[in-house]
Amino acid sequence: MTRSVSIFGATGSIGQNTLDLIRRNRDGYRVVALTGGRNVDRLAADAREFGAELAVTCFEACLPALRAALSGSGIAVAGGAAALMEAADRPVDWTMSAIVGAAGLAPGFRALRHGCTLALANKESLVTAGPLLMAEARAHGARILPVDSEHSAVFQALAGEDMAAGERIIITASGGALREWPLDRLAEATVAEAGAHPNWEMGQRITIDSASMFNKALELIETKEFFGVEPEQIEAVIHPQSIVHALVGFRDGALMAHLGAPDMRHAIGYALHWPDRRALPVARIDLARLATLEFRAPDLARFPALRLAREVMATGGGAGAVFNAAKEVALDQFIAGAIKFTDMSPLVEATLDAMSREIRLADAMDSLETVLETDHLTRIRARDLARSRQEQTT
Ligand code: NDP
Repeated sequence: MTRSVSIFGATGSIGQNTLDLIRRNRDGYRVVALTGGRNVDRLAADAREFGAELAVTCFEACLPALRAALSGSGIAVAGGAAALMEAADRPVDWTMSAIVGAAGLAPGFRALRHGCTLALANKESLVTAGPLLMAEARAHGARILPVDSEHSAVFQALAGEDMAAGERIIITASGGALREWPLDRLAEATVAEAGAHPNWEMGQRITIDSASMFNKALELIETKEFFGVEPEQIEAVIHPQSIVHALVGFRDGALMAHLGAPDMRHAIGYALHWPDRRALPVARIDLARLATLEFRAPDLARFPALRLAREVMATGGGAGAVFNAAKEVALDQFIAGAIKFTDMSPLVEATLDAMSREIRLADAMDSLETVLETDHLTRIRARDLARSRQEQTT
């Protein structure tokens, strides 16, 4: 049976890995919509190769180039945020949500309306709007499947089990590119150094987030929202080999671990074929060759983002949306060379403090519009704070 699929963020790292799997079983899928951003050539080439019905760039300024690249192909083209929503309105069986950042929230949310399976790589959706997203899925009979490797691993470890019998969830972290750097050198880290992941091939933003552990901080919150567990039940441990992705601890003391090569096609393929488990083109692990699997507790002085995530989980409500937006601004500032690697966490913390004086952070987000408004206000506040800090230091 042919499955209809749309991929949001098709030109990115997750999107390309998804297309790689689809390419290997071309007749099994009908590609409806592909979306991208600035990488118009990639988007156009993929839209042609996969015979997509619609190609969308989220940036209106890129639309003329996309139109030119797809002229004569018969593929519909569109651009801008509204066009992303139109793509989400096209009914499909399976949607990949792999836009980076909070920009991925609205299209994924919209796609749930037609009751599809939403493969969720965009962790920001759960961090900013977890309860709303899960309720929207329930309301429309849609299913959300996790694609983040840790959450896919937990999901797999729980197969056939009841989370009521689960005591704790342990997600692992490689520790990122700078994990062995002396603490007093971290402030000097460049974008290239922070963006060179030891184990995973990923987009630039998530790779830098791995070095700062903001990625793991988001994943702690994502775990709470997706699996409905208490913050105290979730742990993060450093595991430099990135072979064990997560473990679930049960009340009889058993720990179920998920092991796999660090290759996102595993988690993507699991979500694509679920509930089947089909063959995937990923490396097989040779335990004897691997010999050692190390685990250690993360140092909170090195990774203050983890402490902030605990505070955000304890607050609930709009704290996740504020945390994520502040983190995105801090990351933009670091990538632009405006702040140091070690300035990101203090900027996020200062933004959380400032926003807690403006809105009641603990109040539940009652609609998608409230989440987007909170995101918008937070970005303004975070940029203001970054600017005034820069002025103080110059
Ligand atoms: P990439 O940066 O590689 O790709 C991001 C995609 O989103 C691209 O298609 C990009 O278009 C598009 N995009 C960028 N900005 C916008 C915007 N404002 N509106 C709409 N689309 C936009 O990211 P990744 O694939 O690494 O990550 C995607 C998501 O998956 C993130 O949420 C990340 O946290 C999550 N994730 C990623 C993993 C990985 O291994 N990469 C692992 C687990 C989760 P273009 O490039 O054409 O400009």
